[in-house]
Amino acid sequence: MNLNDRVTTIKGIGPKKAEALYKIGINKIEDFLYFYPRGYQDRRQVTKIGELENSSLALVQGKVKLKIKGGYGKKQTLKLLVSDDSGSMEVVFFNAKFLISKFEPEDEFTFYGKVSNEFGKFKMLHPEFLKTEENYMHGIIPIYPLTTGISQQDMYKWQNIANHLLPQAQEPLTEDIIEKNKLCDLKYALDNIHFPKDKSHLKIAKYRLVFDELLFLQIGLLSVKNRITSEEKGISFNKNINIQDFIKNLPYPLTNAQKKVIDEINDDMESDKVMNRLVQGDVGSGKTVIAEAALYKAVKNGFQGVLMAPTELLARQHFEGLRREFEGLGIEIGFLSGSMSAKNKNNTLERLAQGKIHILVGTHAIIQPTVLFKNLGIVITDEQHRFGVNQRNLLAEKGQNPDVLVMTATPIPRTLAVIIYGDLDISVIDELPPGRQQIITKAFTQKKKESAYSFVRQQIQEGRQAYVVAPLIEESEALENVLSAEELYEQLQKDFCDVKIALLHGAMKQTEKDDVMEKFYEGIIKILVSTVVIEVGINVPNASIMLIENAERFGLAQLHQLRGRVGRGKHQSYCFLLTAGESPVSKERIKIMTATSDGFAIAEKDLELRGPGEFFGIRQHGLPDLKIADLIRHINILNIAREEAKAILEKDPKLLSHEMAEIRERTVKLFGENAVLSI
Ligand code: ADP
Ligand code: MG
Repeated sequence: MNLNDRVTTIKGIGPKKAEALYKIGINKIEDFLYFYPRGYQDRRQVTKIGELENSSLALVQGKVKLKIKGGYGKKQTLKLLVSDDSGSMEVVFFNAKFLISKFEPEDEFTFYGKVSNEFGKFKMLHPEFLKTEENYMHGIIPIYPLTTGISQQDMYKWQNIANHLLPQAQEPLTEDIIEKNKLCDLKYALDNIHFPKDKSHLKIAKYRLVFDELLFLQIGLLSVKNRITSEEKGISFNKNINIQDFIKNLPYPLTNAQKKVIDEINDDMESDKVMNRLVQGDVGSGKTVIAEAALYKAVKNGFQGVLMAPTELLARQHFEGLRREFEGLGIEIGFLSGSMSAKNKNNTLERLAQGKIHILVGTHAIIQPTVLFKNLGIVITDEQHRFGVNQRNLLAEKGQNPDVLVMTATPIPRTLAVIIYGDLDISVIDELPPGRQQIITKAFTQKKKESAYSFVRQQIQEGRQAYVVAPLIEESEALENVLSAEELYEQLQKDFCDVKIALLHGAMKQTEKDDVMEKFYEGIIKILVSTVVIEVGINVPNASIMLIENAERFGLAQLHQLRGRVGRGKHQSYCFLLTAGESPVSKERIKIMTATSDGFAIAEKDLELRGPGEFFGIRQHGLPDLKIADLIRHINILNIAREEAKAILEKDPKLLSHEMAEIRERTVKLFGENAVLSI
């Protein structure tokens, strides 16, 4: 057998199991080696039956003495009397029809499970078991994350098979690198991560695998970045085109924070270095106008600009906004999204290629290869955390070293930002425009729900509008106490029969969504019932209430984004959090939401409550899934690996040497097949 063979080469893996394995990313036998345990159980100690303790986990080796069947059909019960030289215990399985033939009297078995003591007799209910001669339940046992159709025992067995093929595993790192970083070799690591001899072996193995993963991650990211900030010169935009000419026509003065950031961007644009800048600013801090200023400068210099947003709704809103802002200045704005008709799309593409469209706004449809610019000078992505690293780069490749600006409301610690976005320069808008009233945030339990809705009614009577958000689109049987947007919509239509209500969710047709949004902007629709599609960017100043049903089901950052949809005009605004559950975490979250409106503080709390794994959900930032490394917990290894990644790329930027072939392969594999790395 070969590590490269498909899993079906293993006896006992048929099409069904192969499919289940495929779901968890295992196709080839080699993939088992990189499918790491989620934990371990120490089963080095065999306990004598005579020494068992009530409610402990124990490993027992004994002989089956008696086999008693009870019940009928599938519901059959199997009772075994198991003895060793110190005593006997009972082993019980319910619904055990399929197990009955596995045990015969006098067979030696190893059982692992929780011990109970009933009337002075020890008992194990549904223990794991293996024939003692197949004894790999002994030692420190790996516990794997599983999927339907695969048992721990299956997994042990297959892992053992893969383990026997370890001699074939290719060491990706050179001896130099291994020595310099005091790593164990790959085979040792892959052996001990699954079947550790003891804790210290496990630690050494884990360090090596974390190192590898972080190394490949950073090689990938750095080589992406190298492409952007290559030695090649960028555009130096003309100093005589003054952003102030745009700013002086704005209906409001900029905040100091906005001015500072615009200055930083202006300097970048005038220099011949390629701009690669991240703008972080809380919801409502006024990032859009910063994008507009940069676009203005580029277009007045005779270049084209592009602004990409993560949702169609947001893209459209930017499109409308830019049109209003730039209408009088002879600047032509185009729009592109996946849902447009072919005719419209082609028309836009043609005018874009001819340079008749100066600024293109759209969704990720903009990345497609058919989208060609005449002379793209600046690339801006809004709510960057929704896009992958590669998407940003693909966009930048549509021009000759255009300047790149990315905007996000999701604050991340600086160390991490540098890793994720490469050596980006970072600008922070740490100030909200003046006159923003505090949004009054209140939590309501189910019992008090009525009063929340009667307040909504009152606000609508005063001429305001309201968002009502539910966590699901449709009713779900699995989630009983969770309201769906559709249910809510029907219910509210009854309760507010004299008020115009509309439903908005991601599964609706684009034209329907547009229609709803337009009517909401215009104030015709008073209550917008929706899912989180409205989470990012939407701006309707007259809306003063954000009511969130099942608020306990949303993350803090998400709640904060949702709350940011109101308080955008001159009216006092409210965020009502309705909760069904009473879990301590949800209580804690709601408490934080009502106590602070600082997005950075909220993000930090979110991190604390949910742990880095979920908060940084990695994917959020367009990074590949990490299997063993944790960007926060392993920050030290991350830094060491970063130095190594830099050194490797310096020596061999495209990883073309024979020595680097395996590193290259591993990196490409980590980033997935669709990743477009410059290596
Ligand atoms: P975000 O940073 O969340 O993208 P926006 O750019 O959408 O924020 O701005 C939110 C609102 O604040 C918009 O209505 C915008 O016109 C307004 N705004 C932006 N800057 C200022 C300012 N300096 N003074 C007053 N209002 C501003
Ligand atoms: Mg925005």
